[in-house]
Amino acid sequence: MKILVINCGSSSIKYELFEMEDESVIAEGLIEKIGTESAIITYQATDKEELMKTAEILDHREGLNLVLRLLMDDKDGVIASKNEVAAVGHRVVHGGEFFSESAVITSEVRQAIRKTVDLAPLHNPPNLLGIAAAEQQLPDAIHVAVFDTAFHQTMPKHAYLYPLPYVLYTRHKIRRYGFHGTSHKYVSEQAALFIEKPLTELKIISAHIGNGASVTAIDHGISIDTSMGMTPLEGLMMGTRCGDIDPAIVPYVIAKEDLTLSEIQSMMNKHSGLLGVTGMSSDMREVTQAMEEGNEQAKLAIDMYLYKLRKTIGSYIAAMNGVDILLFTAGVGENSSYVRQEVCKELSFFGIELDQSKNNIRSKKTREISTPNSKVKVLVVPTYEELMIAREAKHLVDQQ
Ligand code: ADP
Repeated sequence: MKILVINCGSSSIKYELFEMEDESVIAEGLIEKIGTESAIITYQATDKEELMKTAEILDHREGLNLVLRLLMDDKDGVIASKNEVAAVGHRVVHGGEFFSESAVITSEVRQAIRKTVDLAPLHNPPNLLGIAAAEQQLPDAIHVAVFDTAFHQTMPKHAYLYPLPYVLYTRHKIRRYGFHGTSHKYVSEQAALFIEKPLTELKIISAHIGNGASVTAIDHGISIDTSMGMTPLEGLMMGTRCGDIDPAIVPYVIAKEDLTLSEIQSMMNKHSGLLGVTGMSSDMREVTQAMEEGNEQAKLAIDMYLYKLRKTIGSYIAAMNGVDILLFTAGVGENSSYVRQEVCKELSFFGIELDQSKNNIRSKKTREISTPNSKVKVLVVPTYEELMIAREAKHLVDQQ
């Protein structure tokens, strides 16, 4: 069975075609700058050369049309006809309270995603555009929505509510939802497989740290708390996002700096975090390098980043009254031995003990980096959200 996974941003379509027989990728690529005369198209069929070109692509429908033409191309294509695509897995950022699991897209499902647009105004509209385009191009395929928020719908009320007037929850659904759910679910499953224990017997803390970052407490396979909130701005210090701050700062800075609401939102989302503190870069590699070269501001930014991450992990040990596995994933988590080392160093009270030589090994595979004596297993687990989306879609197709 072949499954196409698509992830639509406001001006981009990321796609990957899977053969689910062996969960291999047959072709993948990206279209960027949709809506312009010079959209950038990349396409790579496995074992063939990568193609790159520019073309006028005015909307997601045209973009997807081109993706399918590339997939069926006489020379570089990998399928003979559209009918070979049994299902399309759509990444949808926000499922609100409507979805606690992935769903076959029907008119009711589309309607519910539309109702959630207010909560994710930057993400859900392009996701809906992608769904409409794919349904038009592939009318016979089964379309499945996989939500970033769904995995966290198991959070108990005391974890997801904000201590604001309750009416804001009943009236506007203001609550914590959490994100990166597809990744947290995937890596926690991989971790359980790796140590050969059932997920339902484990307390796992999953640190997904990339440009965006969140930590999740997964108690016996269930997300009971996560650091992102109603939006992906809450929680950890990130590449460009500030994470938790005193909310009273917002009106204060608006008044002092004469900012509009959208300017302060942009400041907190795009000009804060590592970028805001260093004034130089949001990229952990560059900030780490600057720190190693003696840049004091870079050192301060990384110390702040590590401190918040460590406190969050500690709070989830308290939330679950213990932890069996601490895992690191995503760009920083998978690649920065320094971040892993510094976070774990100060968690030794909990019996977390890192093996430095294992921590320094670079690998694309799931691996253990703690010592045999460590009370908590520390793992690095590469995330693979696209595969998880394909698996979710296959699961729903199999149920049809
Ligand atoms: P996104 O959230 O956009 O999916 P990624 O998961 O790709 O992001 O993570 C990107 C982050 O990972 C960047 O800050 C990048 O610097 C960081 N990163 C990648 N490789 C390394 C490395 N070797 N050392 C430290 N940070 C790294």
